[in-house]
Amino acid sequence: MVKDGLTIVYTGKGKGKTTAALGIALRAVGYEKKICMIQFIKGSWHYGEMDSSKRLEPEFEMVAIGKGFVGIIDDKSPKEDHERIAREAIRISNEKIQSGNYDIVILDEINYAVNLDLISVNDVLSLIKSKPEKIDLVLTGNYAKPQIIDAADLVTEMREIKHPFQRGIKAKEGIDF
Ligand code: ATP
Ligand code: MG
Repeated sequence: MVKDGLTIVYTGKGKGKTTAALGIALRAVGYEKKICMIQFIKGSWHYGEMDSSKRLEPEFEMVAIGKGFVGIIDDKSPKEDHERIAREAIRISNEKIQSGNYDIVILDEINYAVNLDLISVNDVLSLIKSKPEKIDLVLTGNYAKPQIIDAADLVTEMREIKHPFQRGIKAKEGIDF
């Protein structure tokens, strides 16, 4: 049996969730598939994929919407701003999923947006349930809710065994961002 479109979840504390999703995109471009990646809460930081994704255009499209991690480091904007932006990200995600323009839609860090109460788990479940049969949907971020795990076809939990951060080693260009 071949299932047309899969719902894939990368969650867990260990590193590798977003890079796994990017790996799918890189692989799928090789078959001229169309991929859209929507970044939920990363807007104020710079990640290499924001530039390298341009080299994979037009097959790969990247949309960064968020305003930085809520309540962490550089965050000074009120929660309502984050909520408004997360709702906007849901609206755009729904548009992209329903557009018929993509084979794969990646909702990067969407699980954090749910965990931070910026959007509800039902917002995500309705994206999953209403997606066209053919589309593969990839959801990343730790703390994936049980309802999302239930609704998915493939769930991988990244388990941290070691991370250089534990030894005070800072995030590294090309590896972490
Ligand atoms: P990556 O983008 O490297 O695949 P990720 O998507 O699994 O990581 P996130 O929770 O989105 O992880 O975290 C984003 C940033 O935090 C990245 O720079 C990532 O390398 C770093 N990071 C991920 N896991 C850990 C960890 N266990 N300890 C410290 N930093 C981490
Ligand atoms: Mg990530």
